Amino acid sequence: MRIAAIVSVGEEILAGDIVDTNAAEIAKELRALGWTVRSIRTVGDDVPVIAAALRDAAAGSELVVVTGGLGPTRDDLTREGLAEATADTLVEDESAWHAIQDYFARIGRVMNPTNRIQAQRPSRARIVPNPLGTAPGLDATIGSARVFVLPGVPMEMRAMLRGTVLPAVAAGAGGAQPLARARVHAHGVPESTAGEWIAEWMGAGKDPFVGITVSGGILTVSVTARTPAESARDRVASIADEVWKRFGNHAFGRDGVTIEEALIAALRARGARLALAESCTGGLAARLVTRVPGASDVFVQGIVPYSNAAKVRWLGVTQWDLRIHGAVSPTVARQMAFAVAASAGVDCGVSTTGVAGPGGGTPSKPVGRVEFGAYWRGQVYDRTTTFVGDRESIQLRAARFALDLARRAALGTLRDELPPARPGLDDRRARSVGGRNFDDFFVRRSTPSLTLTAWVC
Ligand code: ATP
Repeated sequence: MRIAAIVSVGEEILAGDIVDTNAAEIAKELRALGWTVRSIRTVGDDVPVIAAALRDAAAGSELVVVTGGLGPTRDDLTREGLAEATADTLVEDESAWHAIQDYFARIGRVMNPTNRIQAQRPSRARIVPNPLGTAPGLDATIGSARVFVLPGVPMEMRAMLRGTVLPAVAAGAGGAQPLARARVHAHGVPESTAGEWIAEWMGAGKDPFVGITVSGGILTVSVTARTPAESARDRVASIADEVWKRFGNHAFGRDGVTIEEALIAALRARGARLALAESCTGGLAARLVTRVPGASDVFVQGIVPYSNAAKVRWLGVTQWDLRIHGAVSPTVARQMAFAVAASAGVDCGVSTTGVAGPGGGTPSKPVGRVEFGAYWRGQVYDRTTTFVGDRESIQLRAARFALDLARRAALGTLRDELPPARPGLDDRRARSVGGRNFDDFFVRRSTPSLTLTAWVC
């Protein structure tokens, strides 16, 4: 077993001002390469404390990855800490000094003289180039452990981890054999139900072992071999395939695929395009979709009609329905979904309207209640859900729920899961959408009372 340790340096982490995402990211990447991370330490900006942490981490490890404290200011002391831990002295590295000067020339900024400190390294350490910033990393040895020191800025850390550290410690480069691993991501199923579906593979001592994690409404089932044997790879793949089958429509992606990426793929496969009308999610669903490169192939528009007036003005929601049913109602959600698809001239429209909290809840519409509308090629659907959590998590989960609704609509499974709009006036309206031309809708929209009459008749 190959053992690694991680050290994060920075008073801001100890103070709780920033969350140590670097350690989590490094641990995940090392684990994927078959390393076992035995410890993660956090220390402040203090030379003897950093030196002691590096020595402790190196004892019993083959690899130590350190982040933070490589900047040019007085509180950036990781270089000194490494020098003390290795009983070495700092020297200026000529190539690092040139790289720092080139960096400032490239971005057209005048260099502060203090940046020269960043060209220093313990005399026996090597420089790790930083393609995105001024702080070069360090590659050193403490006892039998190889020690990499990277900057704290996550973007720079990530580039150097992937560009230098991981290739150096991967299989075939003197590192460990990667363990076979597969992940299935799903949405819309409670963890306890999912646990029952895959119970036969869970439990201590199983190989491969299967675990479930849930974050922001997304459930991830991981299937991981305990040994690097070649045969484990097939077994991991076949369990992951079976998990995928059992999760049915809930499973949307594998091995890191996000719900928005799955949605974009589903829309592309159907030659369809998407529009969003987001009230309580405030544009978050649109933000998630547009984070994906190539989203413009399928995403046409997102609007945030937050007030009732905006819902009336931009989406033709009727005053009547707002008064009778309220803004947080299936009726209004359906109208929003249909109208946003109509205004964009697309096949798929999804809407959110709800109570994100912390205030504003009532006994009949509590905090967390969100109504969703989904329009797909002539049919309008709705769905009601109540999320538990704070404002931020309700919004995130609602945004993902909306995107998953669109994905299911595009896959054609929504029709089986949810009946189209309920009986009564709304049902007639929903059904009539199929035969109606979008321009026709907007002529009517400008005269709401006529629209209503037309729908009722
Ligand atoms: P720089 O040259 O930019 O100063 P550095 O190596 O000195 O880099 P730090 O000063 O320790 O890095 O951190 C810079 C910023 O990077 C921090 O303010 C913080 O936003 C982020 N950061 C540092 N460490 C971590 C960490 N462990 N996880 C997530 N973000 C971090």
